[in-house]
Amino acid sequence: MQILVVEDERRMARLLEQTLAEEGHQIVVAQNGREGYEMARSANFDVIVLDVMLPGMSGLDVARKLRADRIQTPILMLTARDAAADIVSGLDAGADDYLVKPFSIDVLLARLRAVSRRGAIPRSLCLEAGGLKLDPATRQVTRGGEVLNLTPREYQILELLMRSAGRVVSRSTLLEAVWGFGSDVSENTLEVFMRQLRLKVDIREPKLIHTLRGFGYILREP
Ligand code: CA
Repeated sequence: MQILVVEDERRMARLLEQTLAEEGHQIVVAQNGREGYEMARSANFDVIVLDVMLPGMSGLDVARKLRADRIQTPILMLTARDAAADIVSGLDAGADDYLVKPFSIDVLLARLRAVSRRGAIPRSLCLEAGGLKLDPATRQVTRGGEVLNLTPREYQILELLMRSAGRVVSRSTLLEAVWGFGSDVSENTLEVFMRQLRLKVDIREPKLIHTLRGFGYILREP
């Protein structure tokens, strides 16, 4: 694959370059957002690995501008540890998937394969899983065609779970993403919201939201 890596940290960029080249990919590295944006516009890449924290034009700006230009190259975004807000904004900005630093090379390679397989097709804006449908544009959520009335917080939790479908979302990620970093909302409060959300979402089979004790929550189809 032709992969564009947009990363300003030289060590990380070199590591990505070496590892991906060893796997037989062709790598081009851009060291800042502006350069990455220009390269992504001017050449055809199979995947873009895009760091969020970049000097000048951030990774989020790059993703947003590329999508606004109708460039649909799959984007795998790299975010700093625990930056739940980054994850949400990154996906909103048009990234297809994300990886939290530090990550293992095996996971990176797996994600790259998954993201590139989806290819450069315009993504449907609606999120769907097991008859559950969420439209970020209208904020409408339906299950089996029936409209669910969610509070804004419930909606935010559900959106994050759906965007991370099939993957565990930790309690701390949810707390940060929904209530903001450093908020003093307790895990008990989160549990209350999760209970209410489940009463609305999982009134019918199959149950989609699952608790992984000690880890967090996962939304998945059976
Ligand atoms: Ca960086």
